[in-house]
Amino acid sequence: MAQEDIFKKIIAHCKEYGFIFQSSEIYDGLSAVYDYGQIGVELKNNIKQYWWDAMTKLNENIVGIDAAIFMHPRTWEASGHVGAFNDPLIDNKDSKKRYRADVLIEEYLEKLEGKIQKEVDKAAQRFGDAFDEKQFRATNQRVLDNQQRIDETKSRFVKALENSDLADLKKIIEDAEIVCPLSGSKNWTDVRQFNLMFSTQLGSVSDEASTIYLRPETAQGIFVNFLNVQKTGRMKIPFGIAQIGKAFRNEIVARQFIFRMREFEQMEMQFFVQPGSEMEWYHFWKEKRIKWHRALGMGDAKYRFHDHEKLAHYANAAADIQFEYPMGFREVEGIHSRTDFDLGNHEKFSGRKIQYFDTELNKNYTPYVVETSIGLDRMFLSIVSNAYTEETLEGKDEGRVVMKIPAILAPVKLAVFPLTKKDGLPETARQIMDELKFDFNCQYEEKDTIGRRYRRQDAIGTPFCITIDHQTKEDNTVTIRHRDTMEQERVPVAKLREIMEEKVSMRKVLKNL
Ligand code: ATP
Repeated sequence: MAQEDIFKKIIAHCKEYGFIFQSSEIYDGLSAVYDYGQIGVELKNNIKQYWWDAMTKLNENIVGIDAAIFMHPRTWEASGHVGAFNDPLIDNKDSKKRYRADVLIEEYLEKLEGKIQKEVDKAAQRFGDAFDEKQFRATNQRVLDNQQRIDETKSRFVKALENSDLADLKKIIEDAEIVCPLSGSKNWTDVRQFNLMFSTQLGSVSDEASTIYLRPETAQGIFVNFLNVQKTGRMKIPFGIAQIGKAFRNEIVARQFIFRMREFEQMEMQFFVQPGSEMEWYHFWKEKRIKWHRALGMGDAKYRFHDHEKLAHYANAAADIQFEYPMGFREVEGIHSRTDFDLGNHEKFSGRKIQYFDTELNKNYTPYVVETSIGLDRMFLSIVSNAYTEETLEGKDEGRVVMKIPAILAPVKLAVFPLTKKDGLPETARQIMDELKFDFNCQYEEKDTIGRRYRRQDAIGTPFCITIDHQTKEDNTVTIRHRDTMEQERVPVAKLREIMEEKVSMRKVLKNL
């Protein structure tokens, strides 16, 4: 099945089973804004917990905060967002559609890379075991031509971005003969800068001074609280501050479902270090973060690093952790070495001294910062897109759709089914559930056949279903059915907690981090 079709199915599935709804859908929705439904919110909360615990419980030197979304407007001047948080936009005059110029160019480069990969795959098939990919890439003329085009465009592109050369960005689009996907025309406007921050007015007087912004990143709430936390928590460098919260960006092209939203959630951690030691910590956090992702068991090959060629205004090194989504490898998390840019600028703009006295070095300095910044919604998308599986079932007419969500993150951990609605089975089932519901998110279902009930739980990714039948009353055992293998076994009710604990508690995964 084409990747695009799979993506559409995942989106439809997310709606049908209460993971994600379009915001204000009864009014035809609001573009790039989404609501999490009754199942989605559980998964989201579990992801948050996995991240929060890994940061704050496993590291004695990392503490959390929860800062407000609104901040003093000077914050965003100091951080550089008022001046430089822009995306280059371009319009197609025929379709009247707006695009990000940099994204158009990146997609063009991806297309060329796809062409090369196609040639390589074709040749690999033709030559079988004797295929030498390196040699093929070095000698095949079509591959070489495309590679040259990629290299040339890339180096021009990086330069144009670094110099904010909007005219050259347009020239690259023209030279590459990029067409509008809608109108098919090359009739482009000039490239302009567009600030991504949403603004609003504070209080009842509307003047320039009362303009405030919805934060475009959570990080600044941490920077402005650096001294508060350091002093009241008696924190010693190196230490980190973690935060989960909403961020807002007026994205020019918001598409691909919850991958690029206008209101989204970030989980960020700013780690404050001695100047000069930042590269060591940058590598440390790169490794630590990819390990956190991989510990979920979705496949190591699904993740890769992408080092930035063009650095943001505040960074001296930056890399993304990319995940292989249905539309290809894309950023799920960024790790940035932000130098002393933010603290230094807040010191300048606020006129307050923001320094740390290092008792070992016996001197004051502005700490350097290494940050890890992950989009909660992108993480959510990586999990649901990886989990969505269509299976045909032996000897059955219909197959099943099963969400193979890592058990520790599953929205519902256990479904409890009485085989029938009579003979006291519902009462026994309720008793069992009343015992387990304090530790695990459980669902009780007595409607429809057991098979149908299994399908509904598969669709929301419940790792375990237990059935209470007549034998339960005799020997206090139930059947437990495993989501991925569909295997069933009979187990004593008394062992249920232990079996569940083993598979769904975060403890084991956290211990291995
Ligand atoms: P992109 O290049 O994809 O726009 P970015 O580099 O601007 O992302 P950062 O500023 O590094 O993103 O933000 C950190 C994280 O926040 C990203 O790795 C991503 O997971 C998440 N994020 C950023 N923008 C959005 C958005 N519009 N919707 C959902 N998540 C987002």
